[in-house]
Amino acid sequence: MINPLRVVMTAAEMSPLAKVGGLGDVVGALPRALANLGAKPLVILPAYRETLSRGYDIRRCDAVRGFDVPMRSSVEHAVIYQTTLGATDIPVYLVGSGKYFDRNGIYDDPATTEGYADNMERFVFFSKSVLELLPRLNAPVDILHCHDSHTALIPGIVEINLRKQPFYSCVGTLLTIHNLAHQGIHPEEALAYAGIDGSHFYPLSPFEYWGKVNFMKAGIELADKINTVSHTYAGEIQTKPEFGMGLEDVLQRRSTDVSGIVNGIDMDEWNPETDPLIPDRYSPKDMAGKATCKEYLLQYFGLPRLSSRFPMIGIVSRLADQKGFDLIAEAIHEIAALDLQLVILGKGQQKYHDLFRQFAAQYPAKIGVQFSFDNALAHRIEAGCDMFLMPSRFEPCGLNQLYSLRYGTVPIVRATGGLADTVIPCDGDVGTGFSFSAYASREMMAAIKQALAVYSNAGRWRALRVRGMSQDWSWNRSASQYMQLYQTIRSKRHPEG
Ligand code: ADP
Repeated sequence: MINPLRVVMTAAEMSPLAKVGGLGDVVGALPRALANLGAKPLVILPAYRETLSRGYDIRRCDAVRGFDVPMRSSVEHAVIYQTTLGATDIPVYLVGSGKYFDRNGIYDDPATTEGYADNMERFVFFSKSVLELLPRLNAPVDILHCHDSHTALIPGIVEINLRKQPFYSCVGTLLTIHNLAHQGIHPEEALAYAGIDGSHFYPLSPFEYWGKVNFMKAGIELADKINTVSHTYAGEIQTKPEFGMGLEDVLQRRSTDVSGIVNGIDMDEWNPETDPLIPDRYSPKDMAGKATCKEYLLQYFGLPRLSSRFPMIGIVSRLADQKGFDLIAEAIHEIAALDLQLVILGKGQQKYHDLFRQFAAQYPAKIGVQFSFDNALAHRIEAGCDMFLMPSRFEPCGLNQLYSLRYGTVPIVRATGGLADTVIPCDGDVGTGFSFSAYASREMMAAIKQALAVYSNAGRWRALRVRGMSQDWSWNRSASQYMQLYQTIRSKRHPEG
């Protein structure tokens, strides 16, 4: 029998313990799907204050209580906690630190809504702690699966400092890019914190990027394989500067090792037939409950019941430039003049809070807004809306369009990245949603109007919704693609088999 793949997943987020965006969903769901396919996953994440204080069953680790981690000229103590992933027996270890993680927020200071000034130190400390913890746990590893810039320095530390240690000699590394907009660009001193000798910092070295250190670049250069979370985004980031964001050449050089695997969704958590968070449940065979969910949203957002012919469009999103809010703002008067209502749940850049608060005040019968991070409301918006709008400038994968498909809430998307890979444009009797290509409000409006036209034909709309609801976006398919990638990496690191 082939040995099970021992995969260590290491990331800054894991739903439900710590979640800011899609990264958390992926790290919370993928290990379960891998375990179902016979792998032995283990997860390591930081022990944020809010993770420890929310009443999860997290306790101090028996096997490893803690250890000191050198951080340039001083040392910081890592305190190790443990739990399991949901109802599974998948081990989860958490790295605590009074200095780095016992504070509010995950990346950003809630007081300023800006990233913490010492984020470089925080995630270097975390990355080094992961590498220190694994041998102490005596948990052999085949694959170190790193996610995004926070842990992207790990493959470099392994290559430069740890390959000679028996524990790390055959460990393979995979870097998954969830969003290239956040690369982790820091001053040269980051290498000193990471324990990487200054001789590795020279023009065009893996660790050098325009006179600074770029964690994502180092990961792309030094991981055994790199993947991103959709096929289209994998191509976009290698060929177009607006997607590659300065790393397109580096990615292109490694193109034979770069691939795209579209994210799945947690089909149990996001299931309109069983979802305990929504006001009423429904299925493709009996959609009556969806009307109750819509009624709830009207009340929640204080919107009047204008006409049953008016669809409700939903948005659940980080309020960030990436997500296309400038297009919506540009077209807001035109949107408000149409026969529809719009509800937005989001949190992020202050300028969008201000702008959309003003729009909601200007169109109180048409637009409802809620500026918070609220998972239950996110479920209720997916359930109660008729359409879901995602006009992203770029979208590595996107999850909400997949949740929308499952909830019979027809997505209207810009055809980029994962949105292009997962939403099939409606055309006659085929398709699952509506899409537009150029990043222009005029094109977005054309897609919205096309959706309204189909909505006015009850039979066509019902068929469109059911087509979306019957698609399978579970993790099964994506997890088997990850298993293949892990096998390729393991064979490379263990050529003798
Ligand atoms: P990204 O990771 O770029 O933010 P994704 O679509 O991949 O975008 O994932 C976003 C995830 O975060 C989804 O699960 C979405 O429901 C959730 N989310 C985003 N904003 C909010 C919010 N304000 N309240 C609740 N959930 C949110």
